[in-house]
Amino acid sequence: MAGKINLTDELKKYFGFDKFKGNQEAIIHNLLNGGDTFVLMPTGGGKSLCYQLPSLLMEGTAIVISPLIALMKNQVDAMRNFSEEDGIAHFINSSLNKGAIDQVRSDILAGKTKLLYVAPESLTKEENVEFLRSVKISFYAVDEAHCISEWGHDFRPEYRRIRPIINEIGKAPLIALTATATPKVQHDIQKNLGMVDAQVFKSSFNRPNLYYEVRAKTGNIDRDIIKFIKNNPEKSGIIYCLSRKKVEELAEILQANGINARPYHAGMDSVTRTKNQDDFLMEKVEVIVATIAFGMGIDKPDVRFVIHYDIPKSLEGYYQETGRAGRDGGEGQCITFYTNKDLQKLEKFMQGKPVAEQEIGKQLLLETAAYAESSVCRRKSYCIILVKSIRKKIVEIVTTV
Ligand code: ADP
Ligand code: MG
Repeated sequence: MAGKINLTDELKKYFGFDKFKGNQEAIIHNLLNGGDTFVLMPTGGGKSLCYQLPSLLMEGTAIVISPLIALMKNQVDAMRNFSEEDGIAHFINSSLNKGAIDQVRSDILAGKTKLLYVAPESLTKEENVEFLRSVKISFYAVDEAHCISEWGHDFRPEYRRIRPIINEIGKAPLIALTATATPKVQHDIQKNLGMVDAQVFKSSFNRPNLYYEVRAKTGNIDRDIIKFIKNNPEKSGIIYCLSRKKVEELAEILQANGINARPYHAGMDSVTRTKNQDDFLMEKVEVIVATIAFGMGIDKPDVRFVIHYDIPKSLEGYYQETGRAGRDGGEGQCITFYTNKDLQKLEKFMQGKPVAEQEIGKQLLLETAAYAESSVCRRKSYCIILVKSIRKKIVEIVTTV
């Protein structure tokens, strides 16, 4: 089937884009030919399209497993923009009432729905499995697939039950996608999803439009940040802090200094939190001060700076977070404020955890150090400083346990 259609024409017809980005076309071909597919592509590389386009071209409904409810809604809305038929994309998660679920099911059974987004917790529900068994599935997509791996930075236990559920619902090709590139995470995902023979597509993780800088973290950090923002008027930016308290404090300080900033963290009430996120996406607000709870799947192309107020917990996380800058290919400044104290904080944080988690934490630090030194590393100077500090810390931790 793939041989008969011109994919570039289909891309133009459905999404209005003139050409594919990176490996997209090869990935889509592989999926259309029925092959299991593993996609490693940096944030902003265009992973969604790798399952969205095939879903429109293949018979049946594609199941997309995705971790965040907010993210699903965002993607379903985007798909509906490309089509006259609202039923073309749906999601099933805990936010839907019975009436809404009935509507979704009847659209699927009527053959209207090409893409169904589900949260892993909903996928594993008996009634949903039962229903999906009666549906023609074109393929399964596991987005943000690093959530499967305990070695990833965003582990979700429910993600590890995906394979048995797929077997119950019915066999179809599988595509897994992630921006997390360490070999261990990759191996873990493939093994757990039963796709060790999948064709792997790995893109370059180098983003030449991102500029990296490390600045000393002093008592003047707030002033430094205010100055930076004032020197970059009307530019969108994200500031990451480790604690919720710091998020609130810094947002207030910025506001007091005439900067249109809003806080975002998982402890806020969901209405305010969603409003702050939407205001940022809609450009009503320039700066969002957030914990790492903010950002996964956020598609704001013109974020011009990402500031790390504290040292990131892992380089993988750092990579994802800074990757949210300059998605449109334009300038992205990534500034990290760094002191040795931050690593001590990290160590203390780990000590309070169960031994198994400490083990994972140590492994993560080791891996991030290795990762920083690998060819994937983007700007040497930052990596060297960070690796040296991490190394020192690992030696200390390992020798004290
Ligand atoms: P990822 O999931 O890899 O982080 P997304 O799927 O959210 O990235 O895509 C990032 C951006 O790239 C989106 O705005 C999307 O519309 C755009 N995009 C994807 N494919 C193409 C293409 N072939 N041409 C132009 N823009 C594209
Ligand atoms: Mg994505």
